[in-house]
Amino acid sequence: MSSSGGLSLVRRAVEAVRRTPRWRKRLVVVTVGGGTLTYACQDNQVLQINDGTGKKKVVIIGTGWAGASFLRNIDTSLYDVHVVSPRNYFTFTPLLPSVTCGTVEARSIVEPIRNMVRKRGGAFRFWEAECYNIDPNNKKIHCRSDHGTNIDGNGEFVVDYDYLIVAVGARPNTFNTPGVVENCHFLKEVEDAQKIRKSVMKCFEKASLPNLTEEEKKKNLHFVIIGGGPTGVEFAAELHDFVNEDLAKLYPDVKKYVNISVIEAGDHILTMFDKRITQFAEDKFKRDGIDLKTNFKVVKVSDKAITMTNVATGEIAVPYGMAVWSTGIGTRPIIMDFMKQVGQANRRVLATDEWLRVHGCDDVYALGDCATITQRKVMEDVAAIFRVADKDNSGTLTLKKIKNVLGDICGRYPQVELYLKTNQMKDFHDLLKESDGNIIKESKELDIEEFKKALARVDSQVKILPATAQVASQQGAYLANCFNRMKYCEENPEGPLRIRGTGHHRFKPFRYRHFGQFAPLGGEQTAAQLPGDWIHVGHSTQWLWYSVYASKQFSWRTRMLVVSDWARRFIFGRDSSSL
Ligand code: FAD
Ligand code: MG
Repeated sequence: MSSSGGLSLVRRAVEAVRRTPRWRKRLVVVTVGGGTLTYACQDNQVLQINDGTGKKKVVIIGTGWAGASFLRNIDTSLYDVHVVSPRNYFTFTPLLPSVTCGTVEARSIVEPIRNMVRKRGGAFRFWEAECYNIDPNNKKIHCRSDHGTNIDGNGEFVVDYDYLIVAVGARPNTFNTPGVVENCHFLKEVEDAQKIRKSVMKCFEKASLPNLTEEEKKKNLHFVIIGGGPTGVEFAAELHDFVNEDLAKLYPDVKKYVNISVIEAGDHILTMFDKRITQFAEDKFKRDGIDLKTNFKVVKVSDKAITMTNVATGEIAVPYGMAVWSTGIGTRPIIMDFMKQVGQANRRVLATDEWLRVHGCDDVYALGDCATITQRKVMEDVAAIFRVADKDNSGTLTLKKIKNVLGDICGRYPQVELYLKTNQMKDFHDLLKESDGNIIKESKELDIEEFKKALARVDSQVKILPATAQVASQQGAYLANCFNRMKYCEENPEGPLRIRGTGHHRFKPFRYRHFGQFAPLGGEQTAAQLPGDWIHVGHSTQWLWYSVYASKQFSWRTRMLVVSDWARRFIFGRDSSSL
């Protein structure tokens, strides 16, 4: 085929795709060098908004995973949607560690919120400002912009709402360790990743200056990562690759002084993963020469040294060139204030029910890293139901009766069905099953206290949802869907029955679906833990990682940018300029 023939074929194909919107909705499967890139495209419907039509006003605070996912799914023809966030873009956080070493460029992993506004026909409003106070009694939020351009001139304004969606995420947690804020980098925002990238290059340039002693060179090239969670480990791996694949060639004189340390307070790194993955990661780090210091707790960071303690060694201070603090997340001040107002003062994150409604106030929803779903209500209600069923107060019920009660409970709390299938409930479960259809067995009395205790034990072990992008984005989509169906559900109450009072819940409670997790370990090797105990480490999972992360990008624009960054890195290596 001639090249012009080829070109016109491509052109025709592109036009066909453009002309056929249905195409975009379909599942697109593209193969990237052996890996499969799967992406279910969303409908970019353009929804008109008519202000002043009496639509309820929904205000979203935050444009992270939770906020952006809500925004993407809410039907703006039904609501007057307003968004407040100090960042006018969404960040694809799982690729932040790649930005620290220039594997991927910062702008490739962000999606401007105003792009989303444009794509949806300007159907929602965005204000680049920080919300500093939520006033649930007057249904208002107080905001402050950096720009200081409002009428008052002080950059502050108030937004009222009918429904408030709180999705402000979390902040890095320093555990009040002295000197961390002043001397360590965090890895939470795009700016952090950019600063780290600059700082790595500065350390190399500094170590290459003339008249430096060997000690000074070593100090400058000592990179310390505090925290052996997925972010810390991925950054350490990324930095190790950067040093070995790119910088070693550019700084041959100082490469022998480079040292990367990971400090972890617990026994192991990557504890949220399967033991096999932890083991593999620790072995790989050892082979790579990454200094893994487990059971070390950092107690102080000064501009020159990091002080840490360990049972065996006592307190030691190690000089360092650059430190990255990545030990987990803490509560933002605005959430702490809000929790005080709604009677949740001594909690770490906002508590919501399973419909993501904040306990203690109306019409406020919270999702993502700033909130957690409390399940306590399940056990309270289970106890209440059993109390009612046990009319004669004997503390026992027949198996038949228990089955009826459980049917009722499972209808309202689907998770209880799963509780029954756990090992702790196995005996009860078998007993109930065996008695099926056997009148004599079914009339046997069972101690309800024992049964309730076993249920409560399982209930208390139900893990609170992890603070991940997966949870945040599923919550955003779930809540938007509830909002979209609100009117329909009011007219057609079909949700689960209420336990107290009469009527139905409007919606099914939020259920998280876990799709698995990855831990990139450097050297084109990634550990994957997928549902069904599927564990794999190696080069093939690296390709799976590339595919999944490409497919999860927010838009085709960022997808193209990220994939081309990876290609650029393969061909030319990473850029070492300290820009
Ligand atoms: P965020 O995404 O943090 O968004 C919060 C939003 O609120 C931001 O837009 C912020 O600007 C805005 N905001 C903050 N304060 C205010 C205020 N006062 N007023 C208004 N707006 C405000 N999860 C995974 O599932 N997989 C991964 O591989 C993964 N990798 C990660 C790697 C890194 C380096 C990091 C930092 C996180 C990673 N996570 C990953 C976790 C994931 O990013 C978070 O769980 C997720 O971002 C939580 O979403 P969120 O919407 O609650 O908060
Ligand atoms: Mg985010």
